[in-house]
Amino acid sequence: MSFRGRMAIALVALVLIGQAISWLAVNRALDAGAWREADERLGAGRQVVTEMLSVRAQQLEQSALLLASDFGFKGAVATGDEATIRSMAINHGARIGSDRFWILDLAGEVVFGLNERAGADSGEFVSLVKGASTRGASAHFATVDGTPQQIVLVPVMAPQLVGWAVLGFAMDQVLTTQLSELTGLDVSIVSAEGGKTGRSGSSSLPDLCFTELQQQGVPAPGAGVVRLSLAGHQFLTLREDFDPIVLLLHLDRDGVLENVYRLRAELAVILALTLAGSLLVALVMARTVTQPLQQLVSAARRIGRGDYSQQVPVRRADEVGSLALTLEQMRSGIAERERTIAYQAFHDALTELPNRARALQRLQSELGKAQSSEQPLALLMVDLDRFKEINDTLGHPTGDQALVQAARRLKQAFPEPELLARLGGDEFLVILPRTDSAGAESSAAILIETLALPQSLQGMQIMLDATVGIAAFPEHGDDPATLLARADIALNDAKSQNRRWSVYRPGRDQNQRDKLSLANDLRSALSRKELVLYYQPKLDLQRNQVIHAEALVRWIHPTRGFVPPDAFIALAEQTGRIRELTRWVLMTAIAQVRGWHQMGHRVGVAVNLSAHDLMDDGLPDYVQDLLHKFSVNPRELVLEVTESAVMRDAVYGMEMLHRLRALGIGLAIDDYGTGYSSLSYLKQLPVDEIKIDKSFVMNLDRDIDDAVIVRSTIDLGHNMGLQVVAEGVEDASSLERLRGFGCDLAQGYFISRPLPEAQMIEWLNQRRENEVPAGA
Ligand code: C2E
Ligand code: CA
Ligand code: CA
Repeated sequence: MSFRGRMAIALVALVLIGQAISWLAVNRALDAGAWREADERLGAGRQVVTEMLSVRAQQLEQSALLLASDFGFKGAVATGDEATIRSMAINHGARIGSDRFWILDLAGEVVFGLNERAGADSGEFVSLVKGASTRGASAHFATVDGTPQQIVLVPVMAPQLVGWAVLGFAMDQVLTTQLSELTGLDVSIVSAEGGKTGRSGSSSLPDLCFTELQQQGVPAPGAGVVRLSLAGHQFLTLREDFDPIVLLLHLDRDGVLENVYRLRAELAVILALTLAGSLLVALVMARTVTQPLQQLVSAARRIGRGDYSQQVPVRRADEVGSLALTLEQMRSGIAERERTIAYQAFHDALTELPNRARALQRLQSELGKAQSSEQPLALLMVDLDRFKEINDTLGHPTGDQALVQAARRLKQAFPEPELLARLGGDEFLVILPRTDSAGAESSAAILIETLALPQSLQGMQIMLDATVGIAAFPEHGDDPATLLARADIALNDAKSQNRRWSVYRPGRDQNQRDKLSLANDLRSALSRKELVLYYQPKLDLQRNQVIHAEALVRWIHPTRGFVPPDAFIALAEQTGRIRELTRWVLMTAIAQVRGWHQMGHRVGVAVNLSAHDLMDDGLPDYVQDLLHKFSVNPRELVLEVTESAVMRDAVYGMEMLHRLRALGIGLAIDDYGTGYSSLSYLKQLPVDEIKIDKSFVMNLDRDIDDAVIVRSTIDLGHNMGLQVVAEGVEDASSLERLRGFGCDLAQGYFISRPLPEAQMIEWLNQRRENEVPAGA
């Protein structure tokens, strides 16, 4: 049951108890009043009755005295003249209304009776006569012949006592009716013979009631007012004794209590109204008390549902108020914590930029806006180049710092909040509302320039290069997932084409799917002999001789045709097939060297290793076995690794290089100049050769900066006792320059494109033929 209900019940119960008490008190007072009234009326009735009976007694006395003093009468009694007695008795009696008359002898026996028989058993008068005085009349009550009577006894003197005369009134129905009219009460008169009462008599009560009274017997003497229930009627009865007669005065109880009943009914109505009123008041009161509680309950429910927006109403100084205050503090606390959690859930802790989840939400809403306003929208997917190398070589704290700085610069370039996000790792996203792909390209250029400004990290000057993929709404898609995926594809395109940025080209995601099926096909490529090796010669610039050829793997796919190594080497790395591939390349290349030797070409081979190969514990033994098997001198084999491949796990990578070197194999640092490794690292690497990356070499005769870099790298390599190879030599002037710089070896399209096995042999043969005259 609710608090409100309990409170209402308590209040109503209180009122009910009060009402019960006042009901009892009032009823008691009413009852007492009724009893008092009954007492008074019955008492007054008794007085009236007593008075009346005494008046009648006096009348009887006077009449009796008058009769007794009459000479004629005296004589008649003395002589026993019944006729005279009779006529005189009738006369006297008629005058006072008495019809009872007897003449008694001296002993009290009846000698004459006017209208009653003078029976032998009428001894009622004997005892009266015994104690009676002869000097005057005496009044009495008596039961004569079983009927109550009021009588007067008078001596008849002639002149001696000759007898007694008795005059009487019957106390019958006539009397009780008369008395009833006088007193306004009911009157019953019964005789009390020999202690037994009620056998005979008369009453103004209805017959039924009187009959029952006679059966019950009259109340005991001296009991005062008593209740009598007679034939279904209630009477208050007062007994008055006129020995041996008993007179009862009856007051109709209902008549007396009529007022009480009325008052009681009124009281009941008043109490009922009060009760209803108090019930109403109780409900209202309970409501005023519980209403604020209910407000708190609904506030608590809101909080439970996770709605912390509305304040909890606090307007009271009482306990409810302090409860509300506590609840409000709880609400704001939770709301605050939720804000923090939501912030953390949607922001990147390092850069404080929105995270991928937030970016997706934001992109969704920006797309909605763009759609409704029919404006374009572009995405820039930004990836920092070679960020992993920064992490690996300079440590994660520095990497983190670089990210923070990158984020700071991006924020300056794109200050509109929430449109810039960090997707994870070194990937960022910029949302450009109201921008098409052309606009996005200029933004990308600005972005790349901003990031490329040198920054100092732990005392070092570092330049962050970034690549950007661009996708735009509505050209490239109209939902966040598609746009993001396509910006990502554009980013990969840019990377693989060595471009700073690229806009998504329709149909590119087909390529992406192709990539997956390509990965699948790669599994069977080796067993189906779809892989072949091409060879590209490395020319010794001093001796004008080819001493090595680099083995470059090619995949001739049964349906796709030629697949470039850039497209599947990474796939092989990702799918764990690279070791198998490398071992196949090594075997094929070493077998080829043996073949060349047999044809009289003293040409060695260079094989590329990927980072994963450096983790291949069994690689040195495998290589040694191959060299042994094909009787190839270790010096005829060069293994090319990039700095970053070694740096992936510098300790292990270094150890592997040492183990390979111990076999007598030549080692080269590939793509030199694109990594971040410091000179001190380079010094530690057990290598014989550095290959300057083709990006510096290809523009050698046009770009002064490149020329400076290439030249100083050659000097540096020489100073460290290393051979220097330049790859990507595409024209004669570059070759001449390199020769001028003192570069040891050159490789490039100008010398020869990578060639399949048969063509390579042809090329070598041809060169030998040309060489002979040159040498001659
Ligand atoms: P890389 O080791 O730097 O190989 C040199 C790449 O430069 C070759 O590309 C070659 O065709 C190209 N190249 C040579 N001369 C010139 C030139 O004058 N101008 C231009 N523009 N390019 C030139 P390719 O054959 O497409 O191979 C690409 C990369 O794939 C290689 O780069 C190497 O990292 C990887 N790769 C190739 N074969 C293998 C292999 O058997 N094993 C592993 N792990 N990687 C391989
Ligand atoms: Ca190479
Ligand atoms: Ca290279």
